Amino acid sequence: MFSSVEAMLSASAEKPLWQAVLEDDCRDRGADPEASLNRMGGLWQAMKQSVQDYDPTRRSPCGLSGGQGAQMATLANSICGPFIQEVMGVALKLGEHNACMGCIVAAPTAGACGVLPAVLVPLQRKDRLGDEEMVRCLYTAAGFGQVIATRASISGAEGGCQAEVGSASGMAAAALVAARGGSPKQMAAACAMALHNVLGLVCDPVAGLVEVPCVKRNVIGAVNAIAAADMALAGIESRIPVDEVIDAMGEVGRRLPVEFRETALGGLAATPTGKAVKKQLHGDKKKQRTLTIKDSRWKLERSEEAEEPAVKDSPKGKKGS
Ligand code: SF4
Repeated sequence: MFSSVEAMLSASAEKPLWQAVLEDDCRDRGADPEASLNRMGGLWQAMKQSVQDYDPTRRSPCGLSGGQGAQMATLANSICGPFIQEVMGVALKLGEHNACMGCIVAAPTAGACGVLPAVLVPLQRKDRLGDEEMVRCLYTAAGFGQVIATRASISGAEGGCQAEVGSASGMAAAALVAARGGSPKQMAAACAMALHNVLGLVCDPVAGLVEVPCVKRNVIGAVNAIAAADMALAGIESRIPVDEVIDAMGEVGRRLPVEFRETALGGLAATPTGKAVKKQLHGDKKKQRTLTIKDSRWKLERSEEAEEPAVKDSPKGKKGS
């Protein structure tokens, strides 16, 4: 397992970076390359399927999310242009699909599940790339993601949204550079620039649900990744090396007050509107109630008293939302 991007780049001195990541994965899990490739290929197909499966008529159980991914495509003459418009639409769709209990690939987390597909699925179509090339891009993304998870965090509860959407954005930026045939050094620069652009981003889900602002933050993660990748491909470098950017992100995350780490006690969750939404959804504290999620196999029984998050440090090693 690579503990630094520098080590990953050294390992890829005489081979493509994606291959160094693949070999590292095989060593780690005792898998053979074919099994690893099959598994990654399955994840790529699942990502594409999740975009296909998006249903614009569907709404999340609480009604906060749904329909906006399709709405994005209705804008005529987008300021961003057709490609970015499509990217934004896919990011919204996947965030909503997740909120509606659809099947997504949590790469690196469910909350940030829209970022990688939002940039890679439209790029495959635009550049007419094969699935094999896209799977290699996923290995590149995974390599950078693994270093971020090792040195810092990919969990909103540990490091804020910079660790979730920010990590996804850094992974996506590196993958985009790979898709365009950039060098490993450019991939590292893209990841660094994407990460430092969102440094300090807090995790503040309204009513504790992975919907507001999470769905739209996937859009920002995706567009930020494209900007960082283009800068890197133009030869622009990050003044701060990527490993140091990752370490800084980890430090910022550790020093974020708990209110900004997925407790829903700060930021947008603590605004008057955020609190009103929470009250409307959860009602009075002492009431017990059953929330039945329509149109799904799930039935969730919750105690309102148990929903109030405790103000304390989140447990180490908690996975992202
Ligand atoms: S739950 Fe927090 S970290 Fe995850 S996407 Fe939402 S705001 Fe970001």
